[in-house]
Amino acid sequence: MSSEASAPAPVPVHRPGVLIVVSGPSGVGKTTLCRRVMDEVRSLRFSVSCTTRPPRAGERHGVDYYFVSPEEFQRRLDAGEFLEHARVYDRQYGTLRSEVDERLRRGESVLLDIDVQGAGQVRSSGTDAVYLFVLPPSVGDLERRLRERATDDDATVRRRMDKALAEMRHAWRYDYVVVNDDLRRADAEFNAVVRAEVLKRARPAILAAHGLPNGGA
Ligand code: ADP
Ligand code: 5GP
Repeated sequence: MSSEASAPAPVPVHRPGVLIVVSGPSGVGKTTLCRRVMDEVRSLRFSVSCTTRPPRAGERHGVDYYFVSPEEFQRRLDAGEFLEHARVYDRQYGTLRSEVDERLRRGESVLLDIDVQGAGQVRSSGTDAVYLFVLPPSVGDLERRLRERATDDDATVRRRMDKALAEMRHAWRYDYVVVNDDLRRADAEFNAVVRAEVLKRARPAILAAHGLPNGGA
């Protein structure tokens, strides 16, 4: 028997992608956790949102956000380009359908870092998605992180803290809650959720590719 016959070619598996919605109060560490998981999970893409807020130091157009004028945001809204959108701290934020739809069709998973209003709109749209909420170890820790990040003035930090307390009351609606106390542990939990959900969506395709029964699915 030739070695080719004894080593069957790997079965090609089309793994469907999953939409992962991440919310949590400003300063809790969403950006940090999202960046880390993007480095770990190959099939994952970050959805770059549109916003009318100005860039912070180091933020890049097209990487962190698409920074647009209020007029440009409204034009895109009228054209139906947003999957969801919300006004946060008097600025507009929105997820472009073009960041999500085609990627999911291609089998890539997409990560959204959006506020609780936007997450509610995704939920109402009936889109298949997984919802993950990031909580701080305590409210005091959250305020310290916001101040140490040093990207916002005192009034902005206070507004973000008010909104944080209101947002945290929605955590129970999410499928998973990760407490970002120790970054390494939170990162491991965040990764575990993303990997498990990607595998869960891939299960029917893997079974079908192996000619195995799929419980009637
Ligand atoms: P968000 O995207 O939720 O607004 P960031 O990812 O920008 O939050 O994090 C806010 C600040 O907190 C950053 O300076 C970040 O380095 C820091 N940070 C994130 N996770 C932790 C952690 N587990 N412990 C301490 N500081 C953290
Ligand atoms: P920041 O200005 O700190 O980057 O984000 C402020 C808040 O806006 C965060 O809660 C973040 O999750 C949320 N956000 C960012 N992009 C979007 C978006 O496209 N849609 C919605 N609804 N919220 C967003």
